[in-house]
Amino acid sequence: MANGGPVQHGFPHLETVRASINALYKRLSYDTVHTFATSVAPADVAFCDTDDLHLGAQRVARELVRHYHLPDARMVVGFREMSHAASVELAAGPEYFVELNDRFRTHRRDIGAALAHEVMHVYLHRLDLSFPGTRDNEILTDTATTYLGAGWLLLDAYREDSASSQKLGYLTPEEFGYVLAKRALVFAEDPSVWFTSPQAYTAYEKGMAEARRDEQQPPLTAAGWAGRRRYARDRRHAQDNGAGSRPGVPGVPYAFTPDGRGPLRVSFPCPTCQQRIRVPVRGRVRARCGLCRTVLECDT
Ligand SMILES: [Zn+2]
Ligand SMILES: [Zn+2]
Repeated sequence: MANGGPVQHGFPHLETVRASINALYKRLSYDTVHTFATSVAPADVAFCDTDDLHLGAQRVARELVRHYHLPDARMVVGFREMSHAASVELAAGPEYFVELNDRFRTHRRDIGAALAHEVMHVYLHRLDLSFPGTRDNEILTDTATTYLGAGWLLLDAYREDSASSQKLGYLTPEEFGYVLAKRALVFAEDPSVWFTSPQAYTAYEKGMAEARRDEQQPPLTAAGWAGRRRYARDRRHAQDNGAGSRPGVPGVPYAFTPDGRGPLRVSFPCPTCQQRIRVPVRGRVRARCGLCRTVLECDT
């Protein structure tokens, strides 16, 4: 887990974040994702400065192991001077060694956030789910941590004032907010009540706006006027010139596809899980995502 440096903002990793959510649904299935309907409760990972450092860290690690349904995994948490915030040794188990930066000795309230990320590494390791390259794999880890109910801790560890700033993890605060919002929309949860950091709240609101935008893209019926107008123009173009005559327009999530000699079809990402949905172009269509079971009202 990375540490320090200026805090990056916005949505620079959104493509990998979306691929991570899709990979989670594919690897875990709808049923397993829905066993994570309840987030880690603040009281279960609370750590105050009067708690014993090592006993407290072990207790929080155990709570995260329980949350991720890793019954036989045992975390051994140690502290040392290091350039990173934290790291975990991914061995065969069932014992895993987690090292936390020495600074957590005096920043105990963020130990839960650091462990949420490191224990997720163990979870993904056991699932044999990874992305190639450190950067993408860390984004997958942060996204999975957040989507499965422990990532609000990472966003809440983001604090900025005139003197200092602190952020944990590889996602920007807004991206943590986005994944948290995606989760909130699926599980009807409001994580913002747990935030102690005002900056976390702002980032969550920005992430929620971005998550809502996913649900307002044509051909979904919730699309706005400008999107619908662009969609109608692109559809006319596809009908006149053949589907695929204007493939892969950047920033346009839908694509018209040829379907043999059959009618025109349109494909677009499921707003919940990013799985590609394909429906015929014939006005009002109701589709159901096969991966996450979201019912999608479309006007094609
Ligand atoms: Zn990591
Ligand atoms: Zn879906």
